[in-house]
Amino acid sequence: MELYTIYQQLGVSREVFDRGEAVLARLADRFLEIDRTAEINQAKVLSAMQKNRVGANHFAATTGYGYDDDGRDRLERVYADVFHAPAALVRPQITCGTHALAVALSASLLPGDEVLSPVGAPYDTLQEVIGIRPSPCSLAEYGVRYRQADLTADGGFDYPAIRDAISSRTKLITIQRSKGYATRPSFSVEQIGELIAFCKGMKPDVLVMVDNCYGEFVDVLEPTDVGADMAVGSLIKNPGGGLAPIGGYICGSRECVDRCAYRLSAPGLGQEVGANLGILPAFYQGFFLAPTVVAGALKGAVFAAGLYESLGFRCVPGAEEKRCDIIQAVELGSEAAMCAFCEGIQAAAPVDSFAAPIPGDMPGYDSQVIMAAGAFVQGSSIELSADGPIRPPYAVYFQGGLTWQHAKLGVLLSAQRMADRGLLRL
Ligand SMILES: *Cc1c(COP(=O)(O)O)cnc(C)c1O
Repeated sequence: MELYTIYQQLGVSREVFDRGEAVLARLADRFLEIDRTAEINQAKVLSAMQKNRVGANHFAATTGYGYDDDGRDRLERVYADVFHAPAALVRPQITCGTHALAVALSASLLPGDEVLSPVGAPYDTLQEVIGIRPSPCSLAEYGVRYRQADLTADGGFDYPAIRDAISSRTKLITIQRSKGYATRPSFSVEQIGELIAFCKGMKPDVLVMVDNCYGEFVDVLEPTDVGADMAVGSLIKNPGGGLAPIGGYICGSRECVDRCAYRLSAPGLGQEVGANLGILPAFYQGFFLAPTVVAGALKGAVFAAGLYESLGFRCVPGAEEKRCDIIQAVELGSEAAMCAFCEGIQAAAPVDSFAAPIPGDMPGYDSQVIMAAGAFVQGSSIELSADGPIRPPYAVYFQGGLTWQHAKLGVLLSAQRMADRGLLRL
């Protein structure tokens, strides 16, 4: 059977398909590079599972307090080894990425301490955690002060401003690896390492936390390889491999992770409580699959950038640029184009493919937002999804795809919907 036949059945025209194949023909080297990273990361995960002698008996459910939960404790040692960190906290009781970051911050900061972001404003939801936007129970309410050094005009670190912002009160420095939904660049682990070295050069005892969301397994290094005291993220993004239905992680120094565990459960209890409720098979298997799942998502992002750049749209990062996370922004220039793009992504989904995404109001946003997602796990953004605020430059943020083949179909159908409405010329 010819490949196109199946795409025709899925609603892709010959023109769009051919355009995609032409773009793909130029991406062979990029894909090879992505596969090589996945190969190294897969070996890291396997070696950590073998070293820690993971056995079938470690998948058993525990209930109640969860004392002596060997499967849970062993999974945490597997995470710690992959991140080359002394310790890790990996729990279904951590409800999402924001929660993991809030635990790490509030475990480390005491009244009178200062937290510094040297990379501009942090991710939206963290602004309420810190109290940049007032919120009940924010760190600001507990007397923790916030300082920020903005990036330079070209998206680099403003070292003089960072030097001025570090004081004797600076307890923790928070660095966000992925741009999230901002327009700044994402940072490579190497760049993060340089920033950490600079900050620790100024103040050797300062703690560094890296918001690692969307960055795991994109590189062969993680922030804990370059001096971060904590790397923090969500299991319904990269490291859950699409199988984890909930959860978050914190990898880092023994002291930091202990404090996080005391904050998450209770002082004195720490890591020793927290039943796994039968979730461990998904956590182990998801982590095992994560390197190749991330590779599929990265291929989808590179393909989207290649296709849309060839059609005249600005893409961030560009098709040729190095990837530091799995997010691909495409500036589409109009609300109609954003809607068509998202409808195509939705139509490609395994779940809820029949739904029609429309712009709507969202708490915390001053413009309407459109979202396309047909996911097995609600809100999972390692699964193929696209979203963006309806305002100039009318950019959609495209991410995920549990398989490269699914991401490819999503990208093709997004272009198909736009072509059908005369919103792009092939
Ligand atoms: C997704 C994300 C978060 C928050 O994670 P949630 O799971 O949505 O709470 C924080 N920081 C960055 C950079 C993210 O991408």
